[in-house]
Amino acid sequence: MRKNIVAGNWKMNKTLQEGLALATELNKALAGSTPNCDVVIGTPAIHLASVAAAIDTTKIGVAAQNCANKESGAYTGEISAAMVKSTGANYVILGHSERREYYGETSAILNDKVALALANGLTPIYCCGEALEVRNANGQNAYVKNQLEETIFNLSADDFKKIVIAYEPIWAIGTGVTASTEQAQDMLAFIRTIIAEKYGKEIAENTSILYGGSCNAKNAGELFAQPDIDGGLIGGASLKVEDFKAIIDAF
Ligand code: PGA
Repeated sequence: MRKNIVAGNWKMNKTLQEGLALATELNKALAGSTPNCDVVIGTPAIHLASVAAAIDTTKIGVAAQNCANKESGAYTGEISAAMVKSTGANYVILGHSERREYYGETSAILNDKVALALANGLTPIYCCGEALEVRNANGQNAYVKNQLEETIFNLSADDFKKIVIAYEPIWAIGTGVTASTEQAQDMLAFIRTIIAEKYGKEIAENTSILYGGSCNAKNAGELFAQPDIDGGLIGGASLKVEDFKAIIDAF
């Protein structure tokens, strides 16, 4: 059975002290209950170890927002998958459109990042999604299919089973424009179909596929009620416990 997941992506927000306060507050808010989904917070890299030490990681998973495409060595400024894992984090967000757009992450780079994440026991939350021009030309399915083919459809079935996919249309990220429930459901169903074609129906049915892009407490319930939407990757609304908790509670 695939898991429902609500994952926060803090992006480049919160100092270490602010991040620790946010994580601790979330930990407290979830302490008395068992959510109907797995909860993950994607913090800046320098927060990972302190956040992992401050919260109950059996209840809240910790994610990096990136890792290096190299194993170790002379790569100034980079953080390896092994380093991420050593902090107590168990997930890594990979292929976010902001990384592809602003930091030149290509499919070849992402291939290496995904492989290293898996080799180091991290669960990749692999992001895909089209720009507005592509959507306007009705090219979104072909575009997303190509992204998946170039970066994760080369994995063995055993490795593919460990991946979480997040569909985030670029035009919906941070814009307040959410994909309609129908657009999100259609795309996630399409992704599941192409996974089934590549890896078989059982693996497709067991893959968690998330929607991301202006997901908030108001729209989460309707989105998560769709048969193929297994949760959300949440940016802005993950920065306040009240908002994030309401999204978790939408399951
Ligand atoms: P948003 O960001 O929720 O602020 O739109 C989502 C994301 O980029 O992961």
